Amino acid sequence: MLEIEKSACNGCSLCENICPTKAIKMKDGYCGYRYPIVSKDKCIDCNLCNVKCPINLKKVSNNFMKCYAAHIKDKNELEKCASGGIATSLAKKVIKEEGVVFGVSFSDNFKETSHIKIDRVEDLYLIQGSKYTQSNKDNIYKEVELEVNKGKMVLFVGLPCEIAAIDSLMPKGKRRKLILCELVCHGPTSKKTLQQFVEFLEQKYKSKMSSLNMRFKKEGWEHPYLKAEFENGDVYIEKLYSTKYGQAFYLLARESCYQCRFKIDNSKADITLGDFWGLPDNNEIYDKNGVSICICHTERGVQMLFSLKDILKEEVELVDAIKDNEDVVNPRKLNAARIKFSKLFNKHSLSQSLLLTKVNIAIMDKINSIFRRKS
Ligand SMILES: Cc1cc2nc3c(=O)[nH]c(=O)nc-3n(C[C@H](O)[C@H](O)[C@H](O)COP(=O)(O)OP(=O)(O)OC[C@H]3O[C@@H](n4cnc5c(N)ncnc54)[C@H](O)[C@@H]3O)c2cc1C
Repeated sequence: MLEIEKSACNGCSLCENICPTKAIKMKDGYCGYRYPIVSKDKCIDCNLCNVKCPINLKKVSNNFMKCYAAHIKDKNELEKCASGGIATSLAKKVIKEEGVVFGVSFSDNFKETSHIKIDRVEDLYLIQGSKYTQSNKDNIYKEVELEVNKGKMVLFVGLPCEIAAIDSLMPKGKRRKLILCELVCHGPTSKKTLQQFVEFLEQKYKSKMSSLNMRFKKEGWEHPYLKAEFENGDVYIEKLYSTKYGQAFYLLARESCYQCRFKIDNSKADITLGDFWGLPDNNEIYDKNGVSICICHTERGVQMLFSLKDILKEEVELVDAIKDNEDVVNPRKLNAARIKFSKLFNKHSLSQSLLLTKVNIAIMDKINSIFRRKS
């Protein structure tokens, strides 16, 4: 039977994927995050869930790290991506090689996010851009395993705990042509957050949402905006951290995120991608619409990056790349506002919880400035 402290569970859903009797189901729990629930009558005590749970994986010290600043060359494409568009470039390359890509898309009504599989360049837009809500996994790891076993080139893009789940299922020797790409992460929001935010906007505009971009580059990439469009033609554009969603993104994370074990010193990925905060704008590689940090942990990661012909890149020292991006190295920090908000949000709506936490817009503006490049 699954033995995991609720506070340690990162919601990767590997246990649900691999349970041979389907005794484990992920269900909405604290603050709308999903947690595994075990049907005792179906459990056969095989212990697979405990053995494979990524939080039980041994820490490995990661010595091979090469670091690059990079972005996709095409200006139009870059605008559509979260930071430097390297995840998009990797996905294009893999699809060109007749491979498959696993990434995160919104559901049709924008109220949920899920990992999906794509194998056509025309579908790339579905996974482009950051969705700051933890994805539903369904049977995704088993699908990855299936594609890898077919001998296909496979790219999986996900958060570090999701990459650790794949590493647990398919340790290095078994990966064949699988490339694991993780995103720097300071903790995703929950399904409940996204659902209530979308419903709030739909009520406000009296129309269904027709598109959502959480990293709209209205003033370039360093000043993130959220843009939502509606079926009636209305458009909502606001600084990300001034929206109810952005405020929740700042305040809320799973309990496990505060003790995340999968920062770069224990990464299981081939490549880690994040925002290259702090890159001086007189640097040759700088582009106001986004530059990514690309940390390669394996030779395969370096080979993949060097095979991308549609990007500009420059090798940089790791210390320089991460000096303004603490999330690469350390888990997010708990503070009084975060504790208060999650306790409230577990019982109340998003709007009420923000009101009762008394989130100050002036403070959120400061956070906007922390998020962007430090000059
Ligand atoms: C929850 C979350 C927190 C983040 N926190 C930070 C941070 O603190 N610091 C930092 O430097 N960077 C952070 N990032 C990463 C950053 O936002 C960009 O995603 C990253 O730089 C890749 O940019 P890109 O232009 O190459 O991606 P694009 O080319 O736009 O492609 C986006 C890729 O991200 C994947 N993706 C989107 N949403 C999710 C999701 N919810 N879960 C898993 N995969 C997803 C898609 O599948 C796609 O492959 C975070 C991302 C997420 C999703």
